[in-house]
Amino acid sequence: SSQPRTLIAGNWKMYKTEGQAVELAAGLVAGLADALPPERELLILPPFTALKTVSEKLRGRERMFVGAQNFYPSEEGAYTGEIAPSMLADAGCTHALAGHSERRHVIKESDRFIAQKVAFGLQAGLHMILCIGETLDQRTHGSMENVVKGQLRLGLAQVNKETVTPEQLTIAYEPVWAIGTGETAEPEDILSAHAVVRKTLEEHFPHCGNGIRILYGGSVKADNAAAILGLDNVNGVLVGGASLQVESFTAIATAD
Ligand code: PEP
Repeated sequence: SSQPRTLIAGNWKMYKTEGQAVELAAGLVAGLADALPPERELLILPPFTALKTVSEKLRGRERMFVGAQNFYPSEEGAYTGEIAPSMLADAGCTHALAGHSERRHVIKESDRFIAQKVAFGLQAGLHMILCIGETLDQRTHGSMENVVKGQLRLGLAQVNKETVTPEQLTIAYEPVWAIGTGETAEPEDILSAHAVVRKTLEEHFPHCGNGIRILYGGSVKADNAAAILGLDNVNGVLVGGASLQVESFTAIATAD
């Protein structure tokens, strides 16, 4: 079938020591091993120091993956403090984020640097999740559509249009004003933004833009997940705060 699996992704940000991360991962495995619906995939994105042990916890589990929140787009080299995609793969990662709003706005990463990461990560064999989204100020000024289109075009600029597939690339639409604020976008806001993302993807990737998954992120919780997952062009969710506890993240992953 051409319908992609729904992706439930948990971004643990800069939370959890290795021991805490493994405990959370073990709880998720126990809660979801038999309960994750067959058309869904689970992805967890722990901090670097927990990647390897969390990967070991998930080893052999179907449709459960570990990813990295960040990396540096080079094979190796004199990049003090940075981590290469090959090291992530070695630690058990199959996926990685690029362009998360906290890296755009707190760490001040540019669209150009984000584009380098998307292309390099793909070449290195990682499934890349490009995050985009407008700030409150941009939305108030009516610029949501332009911001979303611009971040997509710039972020995907170095991706090989002929060879990329929906199995390698996912987009996460995360309105900055809804991240970590408890403020969830209304269904109409999500529908209109995801329609813009879909149209832009279809223009940019004529052969596969309609199959690339689009995740929604921004204060997704156990009690709003089912409604969000049921919206047109929503192919999954990227969850921050509510992915830090077994109960809430399990409830989101099974929400129906
Ligand atoms: C995120 O970090 O991508 C996110 C959506 O965070 P939260 O769910 O806490 O808003």
